[in-house]
Amino acid sequence: MGGKSFELVGRISPLEHTDTTFALFQPTTNTRDAQIESRTGISASATKITSLRELLDLGEDIEIIGIDEFHMFAPGDVYVIRELMKRGVKFIISALDLDYRGEMFPSICELLRLSPTELVYKKAACTRCRHFTAGHTQMLLGDQPVTTGLSQVLVDDGSYVYAPRCLACFVWPDR
Ligand SMILES: [Zn+2]
Repeated sequence: MGGKSFELVGRISPLEHTDTTFALFQPTTNTRDAQIESRTGISASATKITSLRELLDLGEDIEIIGIDEFHMFAPGDVYVIRELMKRGVKFIISALDLDYRGEMFPSICELLRLSPTELVYKKAACTRCRHFTAGHTQMLLGDQPVTTGLSQVLVDDGSYVYAPRCLACFVWPDR
């Protein structure tokens, strides 16, 4: 789990000791355990959902919604966040912003249009230079960056590896 998810859990977990009604969600496509655990051992249970539209079925009393791996949700469903924000629901969202082509995920573009009050950038350790400044994801085949053919949908048969890379080490794919 990356630093971004730790940040999410670090903000959600303390709510268990308050009267705030909250819930934590992650996409079903996430293969990790439903339990998101923070570095300090604090954990929070995440409900897996396939669509953001499922959030519309939550009770009226929900105050804070945490969402992990937001970039994996369909951009066409981000209107749900807007609608719930109008009802006064607050969101704490964790996501990657850039895909392996260095392009912003469409669902993140939609999310930023809602003008979030706070943005926290968490970096990862670059697997090449080992500096803690990685914000990009390099697609690798063997240990070589894949830079061609990324405009087509590649079949992910498990032969590709995704590695965190800093701006200096990231090899930009052909456009
Ligand atoms: Zn690097």
